[in-house]
Amino acid sequence: MALVVQKYGGTSVGTVERIKNVAKKVMAAKQRGNEVVVVVSAMAGETNRLLALAQQISELPDERERDVLLASGEQVSSSLLSLAIKDLGQPARSFLGHQVRIETDKAYGKARIKSIDSTRIKRALKAGEIVVVAGFQGVDEEDNITTLGRGGSDTSAVAMAAALQANVCEIYTDVEGVFTTDPGICPKARKLDRISYEEMIEMASTGAKVLQIRSVELAKNFAVPVHVRSSFSEAEGTWVIEEDKSMDSVLVSGVTYDKDEAKITLLKVPDRPGLAAQIFSPIAEAHIVVDMIIQNASEDGTTDLTFTVSKADYKKAISLVEKTASAIQAKGIKVDPNIAKVSIVGVGMRTHAGVAAKMFRVLAREGINIEMISTSEIKISVVIGEKQMERAVRVLHEEFIEKQGNL
Ligand code: ASP
Ligand code: MG
Repeated sequence: MALVVQKYGGTSVGTVERIKNVAKKVMAAKQRGNEVVVVVSAMAGETNRLLALAQQISELPDERERDVLLASGEQVSSSLLSLAIKDLGQPARSFLGHQVRIETDKAYGKARIKSIDSTRIKRALKAGEIVVVAGFQGVDEEDNITTLGRGGSDTSAVAMAAALQANVCEIYTDVEGVFTTDPGICPKARKLDRISYEEMIEMASTGAKVLQIRSVELAKNFAVPVHVRSSFSEAEGTWVIEEDKSMDSVLVSGVTYDKDEAKITLLKVPDRPGLAAQIFSPIAEAHIVVDMIIQNASEDGTTDLTFTVSKADYKKAISLVEKTASAIQAKGIKVDPNIAKVSIVGVGMRTHAGVAAKMFRVLAREGINIEMISTSEIKISVVIGEKQMERAVRVLHEEFIEKQGNL
């Protein structure tokens, strides 16, 4: 008998009708002879509604209480789904994070799962029940309720699949799978049949929204096969799996974008050991994540240093950098929130030279100026003006994916 973990996102459980539809799908999986554990998100819009409530009371809500509040969204959807399954005559049981001891660290709002006690789940499965688990939530070692960060139910589902050694973790969502790029920008985008964990991690970290990045990291670490598919059709979606030989014949699997970053430049920073540390330490202490950094070689004893942070953090980052800039006698700072990062991702880059050169040629042909570049083994990202983002995505998709192959 196979054990299947299914995760349904907010739109899939967004209305009572949709919850009833999910109950039927879950029941069908059970009737095919599987043991079924379902992880649910809150009903669509609910987490935002709850967040807004907290913010009406306090501009910066206490993190512990905010997590108690946010976790209630998944309590509602897990009980409603369990009810709907029972209504079809199939035994089911819902569990909250603390009831199956999804233990996390203490980082409210972005907690990491440390362990799951599967005893009660296994007992329920053995009794023939469908198990419905509230996603996105856990408890720390002192039983405080924690949440896993936006999109965290994906991670709950993969962690559950790893803990139960499930045969597959199916992520049901409102799109048909993982696409080569955003079909809203590029109508020729197509669904991928398969993608490697590593590519999916890069795609998620450069802007693809379909899976929470931590869920993919976890899937990779525990070799959980993930099947991303639509809850509104029976069609096969995208398998996120271990890389195999056939994958590196494809140069680029996806083109992603991220409009959520802003760029900060420190002008004429004296070229002395320790200054980069002095600039970035206060930013790190404020828990601001820095994405790209570039620094030029200096000729006159000073150098410009540019980096990007998310738009949400950039005002805070500026105030920190302003302080450092005057302390180290930099010439000043320049900021630009109107940027976008466009990336191409593919394991084929490992074995093929010239991918970056081609990317830059394509952008040059379009008159698109590149402001920053960063690369990993299987990814090239460029920062460009926000206004040119959509065109960049379309031409890169055309050259690398529609035409496929030749450099
Ligand atoms: N409900 C949470 C959110 O909206 C978690 C999730 O949907 O995965 O972010
Ligand atoms: Mg999601």
